[in-house]
Amino acid sequence: MIARERAGRNAGWGRAVASLAGARPESFWTSQPGAPDPAPALTGTITADLAVIGGGFAGLWTALLARERDPSADVVLIEAATSGWAASGRNGGFCSASLTHGIGNGLARFPAEMPLLEKLGAQNLAEIGQTIAARGIDCDFSPVGELTVATQPWQLDDLYADTEAARQLGHDAVDLDAAGVRRELDSAAFLGGAWYRDTCAMLDPGRLARGLRRACLEAGVRLYENTRVRAITSDGAALSLATPYGGVRARQAVLATGAYPPLLRRIGLFFVPVYDYVLVTEPLSAAQLASLGWRHRQGAADAGNQFHYFRLTADNRILWGGYDAIYFNGGRVSAAHDQRPETFARLAGHFFRTFPQLEDVSFEYAWGGAIDTCSRFFAFYGTAHAGRVGYACGHTGLGVGASRFAANVVLNLLAGLRTERTGLEMVRSRPVPFPPEPARSAVIQLTRASLAQADRNAGRRNLWLRTLDRLGLGFDS
Ligand SMILES: Cc1cc2nc3c(=O)[nH]c(=O)nc-3n(C[C@H](O)[C@H](O)[C@H](O)COP(=O)(O)OP(=O)(O)OC[C@H]3O[C@@H](n4cnc5c(N)ncnc54)[C@H](O)[C@@H]3O)c2cc1C
Repeated sequence: MIARERAGRNAGWGRAVASLAGARPESFWTSQPGAPDPAPALTGTITADLAVIGGGFAGLWTALLARERDPSADVVLIEAATSGWAASGRNGGFCSASLTHGIGNGLARFPAEMPLLEKLGAQNLAEIGQTIAARGIDCDFSPVGELTVATQPWQLDDLYADTEAARQLGHDAVDLDAAGVRRELDSAAFLGGAWYRDTCAMLDPGRLARGLRRACLEAGVRLYENTRVRAITSDGAALSLATPYGGVRARQAVLATGAYPPLLRRIGLFFVPVYDYVLVTEPLSAAQLASLGWRHRQGAADAGNQFHYFRLTADNRILWGGYDAIYFNGGRVSAAHDQRPETFARLAGHFFRTFPQLEDVSFEYAWGGAIDTCSRFFAFYGTAHAGRVGYACGHTGLGVGASRFAANVVLNLLAGLRTERTGLEMVRSRPVPFPPEPARSAVIQLTRASLAQADRNAGRRNLWLRTLDRLGLGFDS
């Protein structure tokens, strides 16, 4: 019996590895045709009212909103490579309304503020949809909602408690039993689920980034690409941003550098770069798609501590990512980490276990990217250099939508505005910092191992996780 099981597992491993034979080591989203020519690098010294550093969603939204607020403001956007090449062009494309990395996490931390946070999050998602429509950004924005599925019996109670809380906050969240969830998306692994119908849109992040880049240029943002800002200094009268061939004298600046080494040392205490990995299949045939159901094309994720997320692309491929959330000791962000064969093989194995009806499907893309993870799982905010530099960081794998909200908060902070947004406890407070290395690596790896153990052990959390829970700390992607 044991020998047969092992043989079955080895056959599964063999199938998983074989399915990766043709996988291109790049993001499906950013490898599609139509990439714009890069903007010129900055040479010489220029001046600006506002310099935005980093051309991911956070920076693109910041620059665009700054020009929309004040069309006379001189805004420059400086990107180290090309806009949207990093996390913003590599993610799952789940554009969530949540500003708190999920309702459960928000309720655990800011219960009194949650009705307002959910209202602001819904407004932010609606405004993203409005901007996409108004600016003609063709990015398959579809407000189809999200399925959360239980793959272990212990996940069901929490899952239904979360939908009840969501309903109390006014959301359209539906409980599904095993048959109900399988009517939406068919896998024998799914024991029950929830469909959050109004809290998430699915989109093509590569095309959103290209569209926002174009919108920025049309709105008069001056864009420099292949230009890394090396340092920010202030002489009291203005900021100086040093770049390889010149620099920027700016009245104010926004740091939107995601998981990359921050230009303000204090930010580095509060986040760590965590690598997340994604596979994308070849396009499914009509029969393969029919074998899944998936008529409503929702985004989906399972409810494990180490969770998978999955969705359809416009051309009926499946994007399948998550599970391993890897912190490389020392916390370096490096192109060398973008490919991780052992994670790809594990993800492929899980895919075929979840959807055995797709055993003939191969993967055509495999990539990874760095996420700015903080101990409370959603962004923290601040200013530096006497209020001239604003930043938001720490979106922890849910920044596609929340980065636009953060852009508005940071612009309010720089303008010295006291608004509903800047008054939020969520904005005024900070996550618990990570300890310095080498303790940082030790603590994170212990937490990751404990989460994996809890997943194997019917969700039972060991003493370490229970201690972190009591302190309101965690590790997620
Ligand atoms: C694999 C993966 C899956 C994800 N899935 C989802 C999802 O489904 N839903 C979701 O909401 N979120 C998801 N995320 C997170 C999400 O992609 C980000 O939170 C979001 O795109 C915001 O990114 P950003 O602009 O903060 O960072 P980035 O997109 O990483 O942009 C930062 C930019 O700053 C530039 N930069 C860095 N340093 C400098 C410097 N010194 N000078 C100039 N430029 C600099 C970089 O080149 C980069 O382009 C995922 C992330 C990954 C990696």
